[in-house]
Amino acid sequence: MESEVKPWCIRSNVVRLSLIVPLMGLITAGSAAPAARSLVEAPAASMPPRLAVLIVIDGLTSRQFSEFSGPSAPRSLRKLLAASSVNGRASYGYAATYTAPGHATLATGVHPSTHGVCANSWIDPASGHKVYCVEDSAYPVLGDRLKDRSGISPKHLLADTFGDRWKASRPETLYYAVAAKDRSAVLLAGRRGEAYFFSDRSARFVTSRYYRHDYPAWWRRYYARSERAAPGARRSRWRSNILTRDEATLAFVRELIASTGIGAGSGRTDVLAVGFSALDAANHRWGPESPESAWVLRRLSIHLAELIEVLEGTAGPSGYVLALTSDHGFSRAVEPSDRVDGDRIAADLDGYLKARYGVGRAVRGWAGPLIYLDRTALSAVGADPGEAAREAVRYLRRDGRLRNAYTASDLLAGQGPRHARRSLAPSAGGDVYLLQRPGTILVRSSEKNTRASHGTPYAYDARVPVVYYGLGRPAPSSTTEIAAALEAVGGAS
Ligand SMILES: [Zn+2]
Repeated sequence: MESEVKPWCIRSNVVRLSLIVPLMGLITAGSAAPAARSLVEAPAASMPPRLAVLIVIDGLTSRQFSEFSGPSAPRSLRKLLAASSVNGRASYGYAATYTAPGHATLATGVHPSTHGVCANSWIDPASGHKVYCVEDSAYPVLGDRLKDRSGISPKHLLADTFGDRWKASRPETLYYAVAAKDRSAVLLAGRRGEAYFFSDRSARFVTSRYYRHDYPAWWRRYYARSERAAPGARRSRWRSNILTRDEATLAFVRELIASTGIGAGSGRTDVLAVGFSALDAANHRWGPESPESAWVLRRLSIHLAELIEVLEGTAGPSGYVLALTSDHGFSRAVEPSDRVDGDRIAADLDGYLKARYGVGRAVRGWAGPLIYLDRTALSAVGADPGEAAREAVRYLRRDGRLRNAYTASDLLAGQGPRHARRSLAPSAGGDVYLLQRPGTILVRSSEKNTRASHGTPYAYDARVPVVYYGLGRPAPSSTTEIAAALEAVGGAS
């Protein structure tokens, strides 16, 4: 990797980098977040760390980070932050700021145009079927079924994660990823890690046949024990209330650390990635400024403090390194007039193109930032799908509900804004790329309860906090640098 100097060599001198970083700043218009600083006093260590940890808090905005890391934060969390380098305004350099591209980018260090996970789901141009980013019918979930998923694997992830690269050169590395959302866990686990994600059906963290043929003994013991201790009660709470999933995640991670030996070995550095998913749900439903999101955040800070204590107890305070960040920011809760109905736009565009080309159906659907034309139907009436895409762009630019639109073929050919080009890979298919107006959210007609969202290149979506603990370097300004920083501590060659 890029680093010639191993971070633990830097850390062995207890360096004081005295980094003054702007913790907060211009996040959204009107936000007067304070400028703050953070000092790096990395823990001393003469050996490579036993554990490299990546924590991803789904939808944590820079403003929310300043709240949960403030004076009221639990002591262990404050202590870790005081010894960390913090950049409250790191950013994603692409437009499609959704959960799946975010996690894939953090784990691989490359943009969606390279790792191929351009949205949470897309439409397969050949079959016309919707493709969920981590769905794979070849690998069913072990002993369980997930709603709307035939199976789970990372087959759509086209790049190695830092843990993959690490494990390829050091097979003895233990590499686990846990998150309530399957896409978060799977994309953090890459192709060589082991992913566990929450099943609504069984209220358990489960995995798929891609990772294992059967559950490990510790997993069976854990669920047998928790069933005896509180038959159904705790799990049914976790099942029924998405806001308590972080508690379930922490409990499972605790068990995994205690049972697998991750971070406890000498002479090797293991990888643990943890995604906390509840905040995203609260932010969508009530907005990041809501009391409900503040409640989730407060609980999250307690869970993080507990996790830090577990990590210290397992690997020692100087025996682990940690990067904490978010997969995307968030809009504020918007007024009804700033909700843009993507279904309506797609239907109106379909009507326009049908009339223009005399075709039965011109638009197949939309997913993430992409509109998919019915190329077969257009070709059948003698229309050129490429020209239809250009006509769609002209229509959408006149229409005014969006900020802009681009043909996918132009973006893939290197034309158009960089943030959109970085969001798109050929594997996503798609014909027209949509760019929203600032301050609006793009929703489906059925999403009546969504008050805030993300998925744009604007600062409120693209800026996220990054915390580096023990990594011997300042927290970066680009989220693509995190994977390389973590990879470097493993000494991968
Ligand atoms: Zn979200």
